[in-house]
Amino acid sequence: MQITTIRQVECPHCDTRTSISVPGGDGEPEPSRSVAAFGEQTKVTCSNGHTYWVHFY
Ligand SMILES: [Zn+2]
Repeated sequence: MQITTIRQVECPHCDTRTSISVPGGDGEPEPSRSVAAFGEQTKVTCSNGHTYWVHFY
């Protein structure tokens, strides 16, 4: 069964919090301005229009 948890992340550009769904329910979301070479990550756009990546550790 797929568990999805809603977590809040801060935009690295303007600190606006955005809610994202985390597949699996674990892993600490880590906002980043750049895409990682590997690993679980998702693309987020904040309410001010900034696009960034969130990696899960
Ligand atoms: Zn932003």
